[in-house]
Amino acid sequence: MARLSPVLQQATPVQVARGEGSYLYDTDGRRHLDFTAGIGVTSTGHCHPRVVAAAQEQVATLIHGQYTTVMHQPLLRLTERLGDVLPAGIDRVFFLNSGSEAVEASVRLARHATGRQTIIAFDGGFHGRTMGAAALTTSGAKIRAGIGPMMGGVAFAPFPYAFRYGWSEEETVAFCLKELDRILVTAAPARDVAAFLIEPVLGEGGYVPTPPAFLQGLRERADANGILLIADEVQTGYGRTGRFWGHQHVDGLAPDILITAKGLASGFPLSAIAAPEAIMSKALPGSQGGTYGGNAVACAAALATLDVIQDENLVANAGEQGLRLLEGLRKAAVDHPGVADVRGLGLMVGNEFLTADGAPDAAAATRAHGAAAERGLLLLTCGPFGNVVRMIPPLVVTAEQVDEGVELWSEALRAAAR
Ligand code: PMP
Repeated sequence: MARLSPVLQQATPVQVARGEGSYLYDTDGRRHLDFTAGIGVTSTGHCHPRVVAAAQEQVATLIHGQYTTVMHQPLLRLTERLGDVLPAGIDRVFFLNSGSEAVEASVRLARHATGRQTIIAFDGGFHGRTMGAAALTTSGAKIRAGIGPMMGGVAFAPFPYAFRYGWSEEETVAFCLKELDRILVTAAPARDVAAFLIEPVLGEGGYVPTPPAFLQGLRERADANGILLIADEVQTGYGRTGRFWGHQHVDGLAPDILITAKGLASGFPLSAIAAPEAIMSKALPGSQGGTYGGNAVACAAALATLDVIQDENLVANAGEQGLRLLEGLRKAAVDHPGVADVRGLGLMVGNEFLTADGAPDAAAATRAHGAAAERGLLLLTCGPFGNVVRMIPPLVVTAEQVDEGVELWSEALRAAAR
């Protein structure tokens, strides 16, 4: 009998048997309110009947078409359909399997399109675990530790995490843009920079919405220097933040390359990069691909996911329920000074724990996370110090389920404080 490698770090001891909507049911039949959504993946909830039906039908028709050998209909239909939701002008897409793979594909494309090498990523960013994506990731030591040397051609600039700096958002953005300007004439000369790579909400790094003025500052610097702006929308895309794409919280802003995965196919492995023709056409033909990319069942599930998101108005629901969650959590935090900040955008909400001295308090976050799990509320932690408890309900979450989650969290905070 083989056993799983101890490399696995599991957030809860729960063994699930099945899922339905916002709930998971464990092997003992106990119900858990799932505010992890498979790390922001099960956008339409667990086993949405329309996604299930589309996948079942596709499984019986064609499982694997292999797009570098033969083309298949679900991939073509999904490509066309994405035109309805992609930002104007971004009309070329290419499919892969995971977020990490798509991040690496975006780097490949940016380097091909610009003939430059350097990618500037931001402190605390998470872009994946494969070696190239890990080289761009600074959300926590475990992703990078002991595996170097890392891929070259990467520079890091400060991310405007205002709460950590202890400054206003305006001051933080001004500081970070100033630092970026310095980096563009020192460590990473602008003429060598292919792209800025940023998450519209810093995800694994602590659930910090990127201030609109910072994204605008990046766009201006990109335009002035022939640098591409890559939006890593792996976690923020597909309605999660209350807009279809996270970057759409900034009026008029468009990235040059957009990366999507997670919520795209409600749990089937699928990711994509998207860019305007002028950029995508610079890719060396054949330089992107893979055995499983654009899998037919995953594409069929993605088509059904889009139908459900549109028909059930899930983007608006994410915005509404996100606000309700944020308000509820802020009220819950009033009696718990250890919860020093509650922030978020749409259905990406983080609770940051600090000690009385203002130091990151991973122990308190872990206690509250564990107490929530004991009460049937599944959550995750994040942040470089592990001191942020984050909530990522599925986009189908109802007001009653948000209230249930807030109530369980309040109980967990009380229990963890004892
Ligand atoms: N980018 C972001 C912003 C992510 O949140 C993640 C996953 N948490 C990734 C990339 C990597 O995606 P995957 O785990 O599918 O490789």
